[in-house]
Amino acid sequence: MSAYKQFRTKPTHTPQSQPIPGKNQARNSAGGYSFEVSIWTRLHRFLILGVEGNTYYAAERQLVAENANSVLSCISEDGLRVVRETVAVSDAGRAPKNDPAIFVLALCASFGDDATRAAALDALPQVCRIGTHLFQFAEYVGANRGWGRGLRRAIASWYRALPPRDLAYQLVKYRQREGWTHLDLLRLSHAKPDADRAALYQWVAGRASESTAKREQIAWATDLTPPADAAQAFIWAFEQAQTTASVKTIMQLIDQYDLPREALPTRWLSEEKVWDRLLQKMPLTAMIRNLGVMTKIGLIKPFSQAESHVVKQLRNATALKRARVHPIALLSALRVYARGKGVRGDGEWTPSQKVIDALDEAFYAAFEFVEPSNKRLMLSLDVSGSMSMGQIAGVPGLTPRDATAALALVTAKTEPNHFINGFQAKLMALDITPRMRLDSAIKSISNLPFGATDCAQPMLYALEYKLNVDTFVVMTDSETWHGAVHPVQALEQYRQRTGIPAQLIVVAMIANDISIADPNDAGMLDVVGMDTSTPQLITDFARGSV
Ligand code: CA
Repeated sequence: MSAYKQFRTKPTHTPQSQPIPGKNQARNSAGGYSFEVSIWTRLHRFLILGVEGNTYYAAERQLVAENANSVLSCISEDGLRVVRETVAVSDAGRAPKNDPAIFVLALCASFGDDATRAAALDALPQVCRIGTHLFQFAEYVGANRGWGRGLRRAIASWYRALPPRDLAYQLVKYRQREGWTHLDLLRLSHAKPDADRAALYQWVAGRASESTAKREQIAWATDLTPPADAAQAFIWAFEQAQTTASVKTIMQLIDQYDLPREALPTRWLSEEKVWDRLLQKMPLTAMIRNLGVMTKIGLIKPFSQAESHVVKQLRNATALKRARVHPIALLSALRVYARGKGVRGDGEWTPSQKVIDALDEAFYAAFEFVEPSNKRLMLSLDVSGSMSMGQIAGVPGLTPRDATAALALVTAKTEPNHFINGFQAKLMALDITPRMRLDSAIKSISNLPFGATDCAQPMLYALEYKLNVDTFVVMTDSETWHGAVHPVQALEQYRQRTGIPAQLIVVAMIANDISIADPNDAGMLDVVGMDTSTPQLITDFARGSV
């Protein structure tokens, strides 16, 4: 055999330990070869998944640095596009956490050209919607640029744009985070108050001050009677709550002034009556986070008014969307709540079955509405070792592998023709159906033993068993290394032997820079796990409408 016959630019079998000749592949962390994704795909992955905690292959610090460098490349290529995509993800609540969006916006405000920096600062209120976000932004931006005029003006106008009553709420609810306070930001930004806000700014400054003159200026806040102005009255109610010894007064203050939980001294937060009042107007995200506490103190219990109130709120899909409640927040709450035990050892409770079911339903409702494609979808979960380390969106104990189970069920609930399975070195059956509760489905795969990774298995299995598949959906970190043939080659063989123009959708579960999908093949698509629009993208692509 001629020595040169061994080289083909269109080989049908290349071991995953070698790159496919003629394709632009790069060595992955597992020692195999995958495709490198574009910096824009990587930006999208970062905005949705973030990089909290170490993964199997990389430490958190390294992942932050790699992603930040990649974002910087995007900024120098098209800074305005980075701002647009960041706002799109953040404003629609598509990501489990807002932190990556705030971080990217701070990078745009620090390293972009003039137009990009201006656009980033203009977008500040859209991405930093609450005081905590603003403090985070100040922390990230302060590390990378000086407090120039543009930045000062942007921060000052954040405060000025809020109606006074909303501003008072922010000042009370988010008093300090990340080592920052409102006083710091008002000082740094040289914010000049108008008549409506002067008293509020004085209160922020006076509260932190030893000066008698400054404290006298805010005597209204601790007067016997409430001020006439609604914003000042809210502050007044907060001050009252700090000093009163009467639970009745606390309840009245909550009723009359809508004081949130954060405005109350912690000693009141073990009172059932107080939580009962808080619950009536509690924002959805706070309600979801406090289900355990409210059950523990006896407010949520079978047949109670609180239980039906909570269930009704969770069933309100429109309200969930409006409050930007992300499916991951519901999944996380479900797992903790159903276990009947707090994460930080903060007590035990007997969970309400109705609340558990409502959380389970709400998880699906929080994704964008999906109309089935009615195609034949094979949903293959990478359950190899590398997928079982690290955490999704900083949720304790929720690994990328766990999250694939929940994500598979979202598509399986919509698409009638589906086959869910898992793979490591071989394809394997998984004990998961859309009829299962999310936490049980996750449990059924979280205890699987670790194994090697061959992302070609779904296609090879479908070939061997003559399954008619229109769309292969593979949820993975793309760290494939163990197979005798690359996933795209297995797909090509499948297409040729069956005559089905089968597609491949890669659902990225980690914010790395690789994919098993060939970016030059129109029949392949990269999407990001836990983006609320991903199930929609999957069915649209399967239908052929993308
Ligand atoms: Ca792996």
